[in-house]
Amino acid sequence: MGNEASHRAAFERAFGFWDEAKREQVFRGLWDEQAPRHADLVDIACDPREVRTLHKSSPGALCPLCDFPTFGWADAAALTPAITAAISVEFPAWEVSQSLCGRCRKTYVVAVAAAGARQMQLA
Ligand SMILES: [Zn+2]
Repeated sequence: MGNEASHRAAFERAFGFWDEAKREQVFRGLWDEQAPRHADLVDIACDPREVRTLHKSSPGALCPLCDFPTFGWADAAALTPAITAAISVEFPAWEVSQSLCGRCRKTYVVAVAAAGARQMQLA
């Protein structure tokens, strides 16, 4: 058995996608609990809603557009208005503050560039 610090470090590595307050709360609850219930441990280990409801661009959180976990968040504030508009057409509830993964950003950059090229050919 390790000491609290080594368990804490392992916990921090495993649940780094939670914010610090959440990690502190859950770790403290588990560490201080004399007999953690199996169901509570399963909830912590298997609850994907925790990640899904985490609408911050944290490492490992789900991209709001493609729903895949990502560690490569795009800088949504740097998107052009044309790209932001194209995303909003397909995802009306999406907001820039939710960000998006790098793969989705690339997809929309290419789609908007292709649409622009088509319009130039028609003109
Ligand atoms: Zn995505």
